Amino acid sequence: MNTRPTIKPWIEGIHAYVPGKATGADGRQLVKLSANENPLGCSPQALDALNAPANPATYPDPDATALRAKLAEVHGLNAKRIVCGTGSDELLNLAAQAFAGPGDEVLFSKYSFSVYDIAARRCGARPVEAADDQYTADVDALLDAVNETTRVVFLANPNNPTGTYLPRTEVERLHAGLPADVLLVIDQAYAEYLTPEEDDGGFLLAAAHSNVLVTRTFSKAYGLAGERIGWATGAPHLIDALNRIRGPFNVTNSGQAAGLAALSDQAFISATREHNTTQLARFSDAMAALGNRGIRPVPSKANFALVLFEGELDAAEALAAIAAGGYAVRHLPGQGLPHALRITIGTAEQMDDIAQIIAKAAGA
Ligand SMILES: *Cc1c(COP(=O)(O)O)cnc(C)c1O
Repeated sequence: MNTRPTIKPWIEGIHAYVPGKATGADGRQLVKLSANENPLGCSPQALDALNAPANPATYPDPDATALRAKLAEVHGLNAKRIVCGTGSDELLNLAAQAFAGPGDEVLFSKYSFSVYDIAARRCGARPVEAADDQYTADVDALLDAVNETTRVVFLANPNNPTGTYLPRTEVERLHAGLPADVLLVIDQAYAEYLTPEEDDGGFLLAAAHSNVLVTRTFSKAYGLAGERIGWATGAPHLIDALNRIRGPFNVTNSGQAAGLAALSDQAFISATREHNTTQLARFSDAMAALGNRGIRPVPSKANFALVLFEGELDAAEALAAIAAGGYAVRHLPGQGLPHALRITIGTAEQMDDIAQIIAKAAGA
């Protein structure tokens, strides 16, 4: 007989999510450019909402009715086809749990968001990684990896931690190649950083087909990571499945109020996108200029750049130099990227500073 409760083998196989840190190896506080947070903060309107707290003794609206109505209005969607979550993390996990289980496979690309592996294992399904193409999801490799046991396919677009993205034609090709009973989850956590022309068409696919779920978050461009608000849209039977298993009061009073206020301030989102586009381009150019030192940025459409260190200066040394300069960025050896750093786009001064630190460490 067991002398203590036995952890389920599929749970024991999970490596807990590793969050971006803000301290150096010596415990010193660093400027945190390791979690893709918004350097501009959040909308002042959202801050006002947070400064007028609801009675904490009351449960939040279990259906986030006002927030869903506003999301529908802003994005031209049907509120009945929207479900909110405790961050999009909750919804990604629920999507796997609702549609996959023991004996099933959950498919995603190499170098994609680490939550997908956890979401697959949590429900006893097998996580399967398809080969990437230059750090980008490869539609052919994904479709080749589909078999009768594939139940869910996750695509982060743009992708974390690589920043790469699939254009609409490729997302449509991926969907068209999937059997109708395989759920395609398009994780658009960074969609607000794309121009309208770069939109990957996820909402249209989710509106037109019964096997597409699109997830979004208030954690990145909206600058509300601490409030834990995410949402998903898809066919009614998909939303119904998630509603059955989500936490009944999964978005807090303050989260619902902040999200609602933030949606009314699309000027903040435009300013965020503009800042990011400009600083990402400047920083990427600075890294590309170090090509003769074996340093190069992976082309990014998100609010961070994955920088590859394939020359004399390795990623661990660059990480140490950046930390000594006062910044925390992300080294992801556990995700098969020992040769890369993921660096969140901060202020212009911060990015100049980091670019200089890297150039100096590389002897440029
Ligand atoms: C940050 C991120 C999320 C968002 O997580 P939240 O739970 O909404 O904070 C989802 N997917 C990807 C790819 C991300 O990078």
